[in-house]
Amino acid sequence: MIKTDIIIIGAGPVGLFTIFEAGLLKLKCHLIDSLPQPGGQCSEIYPKKPIYDIPGFPSILAGDLVDNLMEQAAPFKPGFTLGEAASTIEKVADDKFIVTTDKGTQHEAPIVMIAGGLGVFEPRKPPVENLEVYEDKGVEYIIKDPEFYRGKECVIAGGGDSALDWAIFLTDKKIASKVTLVHRRSSFRGHLDSVQKVMDLAGEGKINLLTDREVVGIGGDGKVENVVIKHKTEGETVLATDHFIPLFGLKPSLGPIADWGLEIEKNAITVDTKDYSTNIPGIYAIGDVNTYEGKLKLILCGFHEGTIAVQSAFARIHPDKKNILKYTTVNGVTGF
Ligand SMILES: Cc1cc2nc3c(=O)[nH]c(=O)nc-3n(C[C@H](O)[C@H](O)[C@H](O)COP(=O)(O)OP(=O)(O)OC[C@H]3O[C@@H](n4cnc5c(N)ncnc54)[C@H](O)[C@@H]3O)c2cc1C
Repeated sequence: MIKTDIIIIGAGPVGLFTIFEAGLLKLKCHLIDSLPQPGGQCSEIYPKKPIYDIPGFPSILAGDLVDNLMEQAAPFKPGFTLGEAASTIEKVADDKFIVTTDKGTQHEAPIVMIAGGLGVFEPRKPPVENLEVYEDKGVEYIIKDPEFYRGKECVIAGGGDSALDWAIFLTDKKIASKVTLVHRRSSFRGHLDSVQKVMDLAGEGKINLLTDREVVGIGGDGKVENVVIKHKTEGETVLATDHFIPLFGLKPSLGPIADWGLEIEKNAITVDTKDYSTNIPGIYAIGDVNTYEGKLKLILCGFHEGTIAVQSAFARIHPDKKNILKYTTVNGVTGF
């Protein structure tokens, strides 16, 4: 049994910053995340993209933000249970919850903060026969590190921003040796600028743009070697490639959290904005996972919510102690 002051479910940017704010109040945190690494959406979906609206950082790569948050949290020695999803919660005493993961690891604390973001997210997969067989053998649903594709032939499928942006990036930066973009329609859903850029690159012969077509099959001995592309009227062709990257977005789902008796509205947990507490005393919800009037799903808003929530958690854990706000400039950061 892992015992701590605050169990944080979700090691995204909001969960990570909350370790720091809790640490300033001498509260210890243990984080649970179903992903194998911390950072939530920043690490999993867009580690190499620059973020422009983190206060004090005119531009920072999402992956670097996660590294910085880990460094900032380090003095407070957080614990991590990674690669396991929090699946059940049980109130065992007035001031004790036990959170158990899908692998059976148990955690006990008086406070639970749910920083579960969009929940457990799954890629939307196209209906291609044998797709699963080639996963991680040339089929990827998320581009984590563009360098992985250096000198490789890539077939990207999709009509939204993600497909357009990565097709442009891998071409413009001369990373992939060949980029083919396959889309089942002739018009795209992405930003007009990106659509225009793809058209320009296709016109210059730098992107192989195939519209009104879909990938319907994959071939290769133990790894992707080609894909079968079907045109609406012209039939099928086989195209040699090293990678097939379907970018059709991610399907968010609250997962097991939805069954914990919390008030849910539109796949998010409703909270009291006084302290981001839920309808169950002792459980808070911060970051993308919560909802309230005027909610913005932004990292900086989640940082604020975590900061306020730990003040309330402190009052629950130490009802007899008065907490006086101290500036870090005055007190510094004294870890555990
Ligand atoms: C492409 C893209 C670009 C973006 N750009 C910006 C931007 O420029 N500026 C900005 O402010 N925001 C941006 N965002 C939004 C930003 O990423 C989110 O607001 C932020 O990640 C929310 O942080 P979070 O910690 O609340 O949740 P998340 O980052 O979603 O992390 C939640 C974590 O909880 C875990 N989890 C969920 N349920 C469970 C469970 N039951 N058990 C264990 N673990 C669980 C998940 O695995 C995940 O790791 C962008 C998002 C995307 C997709």
